[in-house]
Amino acid sequence: MSGRKWNFNPGPSGLPEPALEKARESLLDFDGTGIGIMETSHRAKEFDAVFQGVKERLARVLGLPADRKILFFGGGASLQFSVLPMNLLPAGGQADYVDTGTWAGKAIKAAELVGKVNVVATSKDDEGKFPRVPSPDEIKTTGGAAYMHLCSNNTIAGTQFHAWPDTGDVPLIVDMSSDIACRELDWSKFDMAYAGAQKNLGPAGVTVVIISDRLLDRCGDSLPMLLNYKAMAAKDSLGNTPPTFPIYMVGLVTQWIEDQGGIRAVEKTNRAKAGLLYGLFDDKPDYFRAPVEKASRSLMNVVWRLPTEDLEKQLIAEATADGFVGLKGHRSVGGLRASIYNAMSLQGVEQLVDYLKKFAAR
Ligand code: PMP
Repeated sequence: MSGRKWNFNPGPSGLPEPALEKARESLLDFDGTGIGIMETSHRAKEFDAVFQGVKERLARVLGLPADRKILFFGGGASLQFSVLPMNLLPAGGQADYVDTGTWAGKAIKAAELVGKVNVVATSKDDEGKFPRVPSPDEIKTTGGAAYMHLCSNNTIAGTQFHAWPDTGDVPLIVDMSSDIACRELDWSKFDMAYAGAQKNLGPAGVTVVIISDRLLDRCGDSLPMLLNYKAMAAKDSLGNTPPTFPIYMVGLVTQWIEDQGGIRAVEKTNRAKAGLLYGLFDDKPDYFRAPVEKASRSLMNVVWRLPTEDLEKQLIAEATADGFVGLKGHRSVGGLRASIYNAMSLQGVEQLVDYLKKFAAR
């Protein structure tokens, strides 16, 4: 599509063009019904087919075990920071949290309003930065904890877990907002995961919660329906009007993942993309400084610095004018960041790497 730029925004971010094109068609006439997808009732049989199909396809694409339920919420991943402990941190109980940066920290703060939180591991360094994630053996569960929570990919710090702690009987719950569907995972390790759609799954407006039946059984009954995992599961997320269009888009994006050859193929491309950028930084460490420890490098959010902040500003300004948008690091940490979610093509990253090489040479 002409005029489209290379979009390295951290989220909302680029979506696969075939999904956008299909959506454009469906806005005016959804599959020959004569009304648009946004205009279709969430109780209509046409929407029900979409809805059931999205759940089935997402479960298939991710490789979920049969005892996992997929729920759809509004409110972003941030709402889940609170809803999770409201459901699963019982009065008098405690929960273990791993602190790996901004979003993990917000999840901790939200849980502390509900009950007792143990921060069982942190990767904060002396300067207050998070240049790595803790290794599995640094993360010990507290006996009797209701669950352990961690953030698999730290969108701002540019770090990602590549190995998981052994939590024994304590259910592991993961904020996968910025890396869901980026790689093959053994889902038997996670009792629950949640992710705002707006990075790897679709547009902003819907959050996917994936939860095991055994964890659902532990959820309290007293919460209002829209905050209650058990009630939401009983109503199949249709207790009120769900975000129908974002859910439809999640279906188109997962369809695109299947068309690429599934998660395995997408992961291969993601590793190639990240490898190009990190390879450049490792080749020219005097110019490109990659602050994240190698074992913790993210496949999704690649962060780096240049020799001076002035050069960083210059690069961002020039790159934006030349069609590479979204490269500014998060305001809390500065520097540069390329968010290279699933929809970013290998070609886009090749062009960025080429551009960075030329900038450095100049
Ligand atoms: N967790 C992570 C890892 C994130 O990257 C973000 C958003 N960038 C959030 C949670 C918060 O998501 P939302 O804005 O959907 O509430």
